Amino acid sequence: MKNIFGFLSLILLFACNNAEKKAVETDVNKPFEEYKNNFINELWQTYPGWALGVGKHDFDSILVIPNEDTRKKELAFANNHLDSLKKHPIEGLSNNNKTDYYLIENLLKGSIWSTTELKSHEWNPSNYNVSEAFSIILSTEFDNLENRLDIFYKRMANIPAYFEAAKQNIKNPTVEHTQLAIAQNLGGLAVFETELEDALAKSKLDENTKTELLKRADQSIAAVKDYTDWLKNLKNDNPRSFRLGKELYAKKFEFDIQSGNTVEEIYQKALKSKAELHLKMAEITHNLWNKYFKQPVPTDTLQAIKMLIDKISTKHVHPDSFQTAIEQQIPVLVDFIKQKDLIYIDPSKPLVVRKEPAYMAGVAGASISSPGPYEKNGNTYYNVGSMEGWPKEQAESYLREYNHYILQILNIHEAIPGHYTQLVYSNQSPSLIKAILGNGTMIEGWAVYTELMMLENGYGNNEPEMWLMYYKWNLRTVCNTILDYSVHVNNFTKEEAIHLLVNEAFQQTAEAEGKWKRATLTQVQLCSYFTGFKEIYEFREEYKALKGKEFDLKKFHEKFLSYGSAPVKHIREMMLGEASPTPPKEEL
Ligand code: ZN
Ligand code: ZN
Repeated sequence: MKNIFGFLSLILLFACNNAEKKAVETDVNKPFEEYKNNFINELWQTYPGWALGVGKHDFDSILVIPNEDTRKKELAFANNHLDSLKKHPIEGLSNNNKTDYYLIENLLKGSIWSTTELKSHEWNPSNYNVSEAFSIILSTEFDNLENRLDIFYKRMANIPAYFEAAKQNIKNPTVEHTQLAIAQNLGGLAVFETELEDALAKSKLDENTKTELLKRADQSIAAVKDYTDWLKNLKNDNPRSFRLGKELYAKKFEFDIQSGNTVEEIYQKALKSKAELHLKMAEITHNLWNKYFKQPVPTDTLQAIKMLIDKISTKHVHPDSFQTAIEQQIPVLVDFIKQKDLIYIDPSKPLVVRKEPAYMAGVAGASISSPGPYEKNGNTYYNVGSMEGWPKEQAESYLREYNHYILQILNIHEAIPGHYTQLVYSNQSPSLIKAILGNGTMIEGWAVYTELMMLENGYGNNEPEMWLMYYKWNLRTVCNTILDYSVHVNNFTKEEAIHLLVNEAFQQTAEAEGKWKRATLTQVQLCSYFTGFKEIYEFREEYKALKGKEFDLKKFHEKFLSYGSAPVKHIREMMLGEASPTPPKEEL
């Protein structure tokens, strides 16, 4: 009897709490919504350059000078908003607001850490570059050309002071970021030369105004050249290493990735995945060997795998039908998903495949471009690179990389049910905060997760060739993480890096060289794909075990995506919170 009474009072208490929560919910959300608007307004006033990048063009004429005063202002902004956030209780916020809360808090804490601990403003000279924003002003039609040229003129005023501040900030920079800064700044000069001249020629501005503009452009060019000369002549006997080191790397991982795991845990998981993938690939290679080769299997297993991959990669489309092949793939993917009941695909929002626009040309491949948070009615496109004018050898090498099998996996990743589908779902719970601060790890993790999920459900008819190619593709993601961590924390040499990518991940030397360079210039971002993938996959398995027979893959996917581009760990908390068994009302 005692037990029953205890149980009942517990239920009543629970019910009571729930009722209270409901009552509070309406109260706390409204002020938080107001707070968010206020936060965004102040965010753009503090970071006008960022505003320009996301299509908010209210402050384009201001170029912020990156000096000590500016850093103080940014720190004050972060500290003030952390105080304001504390006044909003998380309990009772809607899921959408809760995740927005976490994203804002992470941004603020991360920016304080970045200014006071990471201090890349001292060691990364490539932080200082003005050309991109000026290029956006010329090439984006947010206003008429004459008004944009007026903004261009006003924005140029601070360029000399901007680079003077940069020179004051830089102390003991890395060699790699110094070289990058020189190359990128000189490369960006075209915007003050040919791009500006073209725009002036098209404009209706009078000759006097044009002359004034060109005069200021000359001063700007001189300031950029002065900066790059200064960098070239900088006495830097003991340059800082491009390697971040264990502590800074772990912290940067925390803020940039927002994972439920530490970076050491993720690194260990990546090592384990690599070993597992090699075993699976070896098994397929042994089973398939006689189908493709007359000679006996080499004793070196990794070499045998590489030979088979090279062989199978020769199955690919003709360069002229690359885009058509992608276009024809999309409905096939949609049908498969419908037939297997994997996730609802909104038929009113079909994906438009197009040849990549001129300004993207050169970067072959495929990518999704979606309208920015302030672009109303913009279209979402699947941009496909063209091989027009490529030398035959280069095109062949590219087509082998994106062979018959990999091309399908790429379409899953970029389009359906990868990035494009995730985007459609995230637009259903609109949040300006997530459009601006959305978690890249969740976004990439989802796309990588869908590759495996589709194959698990029989996409590609379980053909061993498809699985082998998938494993190779997945190995790239896994090795990106191993590479980045090893370079920044374990002092990996270039030779070790190239060995990992070429011999253990079956990449071409050119690709491996490019990846090494990327790892020396960036930190942590290369880990996002594997981390997000692993967290989503592990969470799905956890949720499946919890739900038992009730588990429904389609419902899981739809629920998971309904939270928008939030960190996986927060989506997990909320889904587990809602999944916890609650006593049915009738029992009361
Ligand atoms: Zn070929
Ligand atoms: Zn992606």
